[in-house]
Amino acid sequence: MAWEFTLAARTMRFMHRRLRVLELRVREQDDAAERLLSSLEDLSSDLRLDEVLDQITAKAQTAVGGKEFALLLADGDRMRADRHSGIPKPSLAALESWADEHRETLLERGTVVVDDLATDPALAKLPRQAGMPLGSMCAAPLVFRDGLLGVLAALAHGSTVFLPGDAAGLSAYAAHAAIALSNARLVNRLEHQAAEDPLTGLANQRAFHHVCAAEFSRAQRTGAEVSIVMLDLDHFKAINDAHGHLYGDRVLLGVAEALRASSRGRDAVARMGGEEFAILLPDADADSAYEIAERARCAIALVPVASAALSCSAGVATASPSDASPVDLLALADRALYEAKRHGRGRTVASRRVASRSSLA
Ligand code: GH3
Ligand code: MG
Ligand code: MG
Repeated sequence: MAWEFTLAARTMRFMHRRLRVLELRVREQDDAAERLLSSLEDLSSDLRLDEVLDQITAKAQTAVGGKEFALLLADGDRMRADRHSGIPKPSLAALESWADEHRETLLERGTVVVDDLATDPALAKLPRQAGMPLGSMCAAPLVFRDGLLGVLAALAHGSTVFLPGDAAGLSAYAAHAAIALSNARLVNRLEHQAAEDPLTGLANQRAFHHVCAAEFSRAQRTGAEVSIVMLDLDHFKAINDAHGHLYGDRVLLGVAEALRASSRGRDAVARMGGEEFAILLPDADADSAYEIAERARCAIALVPVASAALSCSAGVATASPSDASPVDLLALADRALYEAKRHGRGRTVASRRVASRSSLA
């Protein structure tokens, strides 16, 4: 009777211990799922490409635990380390070569765990790296629409660190990161397209207004003057009529190239529509803006056309942001351009409201 009682008590104690272990494991899994969920939510909430890339590596730490991380992105046919948690350069280079070599495996079989990096020829230098010796790795592919966007590698200092649960967590996280990255890239591309003239690749009118507003608030702080040059090709319709619209398009491309090549680093060149272009000149007073407009006209005159040299008219306006808004300055440059047309084309006119010089004389 007594031994039966002892056995029952021992079984009860064993059951209690087992229950406590199971409860602890459930709680740990709950915590891990909670961490994963909250890091995934953070990832999805941002659509700016740089932020998303920063977040993918930073939040991976929360999702999979305190290890080192490297995010490698497919760049043509190479994998390049884009973000990481301070991993030394030689180790990153080895990871890039490894990822290049394992593209197919990652795409077809998914997450790869390397328990002992010393046994993999491509990664053998990682455990020997002074400053940050790394012993094992779990690498999850970022796949979107059957394409490999990149690889997220979690690295640990010891060997045989990654458990099946870690690999599953990193896989789920990487799958979500791939979606967040694709969305951010799409938004980034759309933003660029929305700001770009499709024919010439120059900024469009909308983007030019944005740049003007930004430059005006900067100049307001520094007290500098800002100038705008408006350019319009002369008798462009005749070129289209004589040689066709496609030929005209090629001439417009040549004009864009000439303006790009003749502008300084901080100048913003835009196609405002049709055969009309604009240049924003930060820190340019009326005299230097006039000279820049003349230089632009000379550059345009060198664009090859079948008939006589390509001619254009220019209007220039200069103001200090305390005296005029970007809209005022654009209107003044436009009016000066109209004057240049009215007085025979092929010339630059500076707005008399804010500048004294004019080529009319
Ligand atoms: P002006 O000296 O008075 O400026 O004469 P213009 O012929 O240059 O000006 P007008 O406004 O009469 O005609 C502009 C021409 O520009 C007509 C239009 O077909 C052409 N154009 C506008 N956008 C494009 C384009 O994207 N491609 C081509 N090839 N032509 C364009
Ligand atoms: Mg014209
Ligand atoms: Mg025009």
